[in-house]
Amino acid sequence: ARAQIGVTGLAVMGSNIARNFARHGYTVALHNRSVAKTDALLAEHGGDGDFVRTETVEEFVAALEKPRRVLIMVKAGEATDAVIEELADAMEPGDIIIDGGNALYTDTIRREKAMAARGLNFVGAGISGGEEGALNGPAIMPGGPKESYESLGPLLESIAAQVDGTPCCTHIGPDGSGHFVKMVHNGIEYADMQLIGEAYNLFRDALGFDAKQIADVFTDWNSGDLESYLVEITAEVLNQVDAKTGKPLVDVIVDAAEQKGTGRWTVKSALDLGIPVTGIAEAVFARALSGSRAQRKAAQGLASGTLAEKPTDVAQFTEDIRQALYASKIVAYAQGFDQIAAGSAEYDWNLHPGDLATIWRGGCIIRARFLNRIKEAYEANPELPSLILAPYFREAIETAIDSWRRVVSTATLLGIPVPAFASSLSYYDALRAERLPAALTQGQRDFFGAHTYERIDAEGKYHTLWSGDRSEVQA
Ligand code: NDP
Repeated sequence: ARAQIGVTGLAVMGSNIARNFARHGYTVALHNRSVAKTDALLAEHGGDGDFVRTETVEEFVAALEKPRRVLIMVKAGEATDAVIEELADAMEPGDIIIDGGNALYTDTIRREKAMAARGLNFVGAGISGGEEGALNGPAIMPGGPKESYESLGPLLESIAAQVDGTPCCTHIGPDGSGHFVKMVHNGIEYADMQLIGEAYNLFRDALGFDAKQIADVFTDWNSGDLESYLVEITAEVLNQVDAKTGKPLVDVIVDAAEQKGTGRWTVKSALDLGIPVTGIAEAVFARALSGSRAQRKAAQGLASGTLAEKPTDVAQFTEDIRQALYASKIVAYAQGFDQIAAGSAEYDWNLHPGDLATIWRGGCIIRARFLNRIKEAYEANPELPSLILAPYFREAIETAIDSWRRVVSTATLLGIPVPAFASSLSYYDALRAERLPAALTQGQRDFFGAHTYERIDAEGKYHTLWSGDRSEVQA
């Protein structure tokens, strides 16, 4: 037995991570359900480093140094359960099983418990960065027992992306916490992409820009506060010309967005935790609406109103969109971090938001200059009630607020959908409101269901005898 790590599941992600380990000098045992993938990897990239080819799970496990470390990179769901079972039968107490797939965190909690009962260390690790990240340095979010991180951490940290000498990998917390924060990361990614999409839509439909002109704007933005992987690739996608038609590629792609589920999971979890993640939810719903192709077709020609007034100052409106994007992005991240705080409290994970901002600075899809600001905000005050209240972000929104309102109102007058821009602005206005209409909601609930309400001027719960003499009684 000479391999320091084993990787099972050698599709795109698994083979690239295996190569990444090998390139960092580790001996890597390879396994895949169908041997063809193992052999293809060895044939194409065997020269990347020291690999051990195995066919059966028994051979695979036998190839590993103790305590054994196996990274599973198979399809999330039942396939993962099947692979875990097979491995667990072949492994020994003290060995470590790492699930690097996109598992639902509640599955990870269940699996960790089952493996702990058999003396095995189970690590649910969120891995972000796609194919390219897996090969050249992803962001890694490992949960699970702290002890297992001592043996595993150095390996993972060495293959992770590095920013200013700091690896984009740290022990997140117990059981499902790694997959939970990866899930919220993906939710934030959905929001980020939707906000960029709304900005693009405004340039196209409010200002009449073509794809190339919009690409130039994003390229320009990528040298400022908005500098990020997603803004950078947006410019690349918009600049791409379709070989077949000579048109911008974006203009020949069907406008129906698909999803694999992590955004939906984030929203479902937020609903259970009672955390408003409106930016992420709007992004998930916007993809769903875009995919309702028959319904959208039937709705062509519905009235748009007569108030449309195009912006006249192109430079000003361009800057307005930039500010609206930045402010809405702050809201989406603030909401995502609220969800992380709530998940941490619910499951007793003791998560550190500042650590997440630190490891999300590189390797992952949402990597951005912006995350340095979030890191600093939590360093200055780990107990921030909302990211929006950190001095830096508070000032950024103060600078952006008029632009943000102009963008949302212009889009509304023009009939251009901006669900994430608008709901983020409403969230911000609701958060800072002195009085919300919730008082009326409470009155209504008390009226039809005797659900009681609190008073602003006295302790306790009260009920009005709505169907009686309408006097108030203490509940
Ligand atoms: P896929 O999700 O397409 O999974 C394919 C792999 O799973 C193959 O190795 C396949 O083996 C194996 N597999 C499927 N069913 C079984 C089974 N019942 N028993 C054993 N093995 C099985 O591969 P990806 O590389 O795209 O993703 C791997 C994991 O990483 C997934 O959980 C994914 O969600 C996650 N992930 C993916 C990212 C991406 O950008 N693609 C980014 C981050 C995470 P075989 O060759 O024999 O069919």
